[in-house]
Amino acid sequence: MTVQEQYELLEKTVRGYNPAADFDHIRSAFEYADRCHAGQKRKSGEPYIIHPLAVAQIVAEELKLDSESIEAALLHDVIEDTPATHEDVARLFSPTIADLVEGVSKLTRIQYATKEDEQMENLRKMLIAMSKDIRVILIKVSDRLHNMRTMEYQSPEKQKQKSLETMEIYAPISHRLGMQRIKWELEDLSLKYLDPVGYDEIITRLDAKKEEYDAFLLRTQTQMDDRLNELGIRHMVYGRIKHPYSIYRKMFSQQKSLDEIFDLFAFRVLVDTVGDCYNVLGVIHDIYKPIPGRFKDYIGTEKPNGYQSLHTTVMGPDGLPFEVQIRTYKMHEIAEYGVAAHWKYKQHGQGAGTEGKYEWVRRLLENQEGADAEEYIHSLKVDMFADQVFVFTPNGDVQNLPAGATPIDFAYAIHSAVGNSMVGAKVNNRIVTFDHVLKNGDIVEIMTSKAAKGPSRDWMKIAKSSEARSKIRQWFKKEKREENIAGGRSSFEQELKHAGLSMRDVTDPENLPLLLKKVTYGSLEEMYAAIGYGGFTAQKAVSRMKGELLRLNRQHQAEELTLKPEEAPIPVPPRPVSKSEQGIIVEGLDNCLVKFSRCCTPVPGDEIVGFITRGYGVSVHRADCPNAAPERRAAQEGRWLKVTWGSDTNESYPTTIDVVCKDRMNLILDISTALSSTNTFVSGLNSRSTEDGFAVIRLEIRVRDGAQMKAIMNKLNQISGVLQVTRPAG
Ligand code: MN
Repeated sequence: MTVQEQYELLEKTVRGYNPAADFDHIRSAFEYADRCHAGQKRKSGEPYIIHPLAVAQIVAEELKLDSESIEAALLHDVIEDTPATHEDVARLFSPTIADLVEGVSKLTRIQYATKEDEQMENLRKMLIAMSKDIRVILIKVSDRLHNMRTMEYQSPEKQKQKSLETMEIYAPISHRLGMQRIKWELEDLSLKYLDPVGYDEIITRLDAKKEEYDAFLLRTQTQMDDRLNELGIRHMVYGRIKHPYSIYRKMFSQQKSLDEIFDLFAFRVLVDTVGDCYNVLGVIHDIYKPIPGRFKDYIGTEKPNGYQSLHTTVMGPDGLPFEVQIRTYKMHEIAEYGVAAHWKYKQHGQGAGTEGKYEWVRRLLENQEGADAEEYIHSLKVDMFADQVFVFTPNGDVQNLPAGATPIDFAYAIHSAVGNSMVGAKVNNRIVTFDHVLKNGDIVEIMTSKAAKGPSRDWMKIAKSSEARSKIRQWFKKEKREENIAGGRSSFEQELKHAGLSMRDVTDPENLPLLLKKVTYGSLEEMYAAIGYGGFTAQKAVSRMKGELLRLNRQHQAEELTLKPEEAPIPVPPRPVSKSEQGIIVEGLDNCLVKFSRCCTPVPGDEIVGFITRGYGVSVHRADCPNAAPERRAAQEGRWLKVTWGSDTNESYPTTIDVVCKDRMNLILDISTALSSTNTFVSGLNSRSTEDGFAVIRLEIRVRDGAQMKAIMNKLNQISGVLQVTRPAG
């Protein structure tokens, strides 16, 4: 077929369903595209214009779309592949057509990498969201269909890559939009390249049994036909063998051979009215024995993509089961062409206004809530796309953010350490301000620095996601608390010195609870925070404590005086320090079983507390471990003990360090160099990549004491790209 003939066929096809189409415009779109692509060749050696013509043919034949869509299909590669610009197309045709072409080009530019399911679903949603006008995705699917049909000219790697993409992105989108025929063809074509052996096996086996199967189809069809004619029900019935990919999937998932596949055959009965659908169902169940549990009424409850039909599976006379689908002609058209059919009905109605354009999307999404979980499992999490924006990390992962999101939201979505150390952002390789609003398909990159000052108060107003805002709020609370505690402690200590009191008197376990009661704080830390914040003063704290301390001292003296000599405590020699277990001295208990908590892995030098476990001795926590928080200690009074480090600590203690850093070459090498330079024994290293090229590394190490710990953390902090070094707890 010559190019000219192919064009004539296109006009004829369009005329067949839309005689009022704008043929002058369609012809000039063809001629303009032909001029733009002049000299370009396809891999097959044919002139390039063959491709846009074929895509327009699919758009017309399979989807029966409007004139604008036909023109856009003809022009779909001119902006991407020729010097023509958006302005050119807008001027020569219309701004709408230019937008359609630009939309298709944008989808073409997206780079896919195979990812886990959730990522693929995000990608599909992103494509639909980016399309804005649904015609863009319909043209893009047609483009892909033609490329798949002519895939034999591509290299084997390209064939595999495109087939995988088609299977994971375009076939599911076609299904979502209700275009079954295109979905089947895309799946079969992809399978051919993804598993040529499996595909050939099915095709060969089906061919070998063709006569037997055809005879069965004809016999059964005649049987149904005769019976329905007898009853005077106007109808059309036809049978088919299911498409290769659907058979392939069943063989695979049920581990069965082709002969064992339950329903290889499907019959379809088309009738005029909904009432007749149920009449036909009764007749079918009368002729054949229905298989229990296989009847589905998608007329009463239509599928989210608008699909309506009755499905039943019955046992044929020869013991071959088969499926029967019963529906009206109108339901059939929607089933075959999906959204495109809705589109067509709209077009013939009073004007296809922009409102109608998006109506179906809304419907699609609204319907997803009651959807068949198995088939729509992925889409259950979908909100309205209008509320979301889908952007790429530099690695090609899709981040799903609320509409209006900024680089701040993006950074905190990746990791709070990334947000807290953000110093700049790039969108599509250009530096942007922090309040830059992200658009679908943007590639976002966050620049970080260890010297970053952290978030500013303004960020709370700029951030759109509650996640980012709460992480920023956390940062302020935490930063402030640490500052406050440090400030409060130093003024308290100064004041204490003034009054001639020592810290030891205050922290004495017999005194401390009473002193805290006097100042009404749960812990010293809480009191420091309050002093630092200005809610309490060091002077007040000290004066109240001073009074209480004097009273306590008097009381102790009085108690000693009133003791009778025989009741006086027998002086005990100081407890030998060597009685410690694993380097830990437990107040009041000798030789008790001691173990170190796994949550905070204390090392000598850390402030520690002990907890009497049920049956496993005393478990030692860091004093700042959330599991030993003051509330907990108060709630389980009596089980918490004072413990201290003895002088004969073990040679080393197992502990854990978390490192958050920008992922890069040789990172692990640098970390291990740092560890070996501090003579650290590493028992485990676990690295996990987050999106946007960050790595979270958990180090299981053995250290002697807090000093060595500090040295290690300092060394790690000096490694380039490291944002945060912490000791996990809790
Ligand atoms: Mn193309």
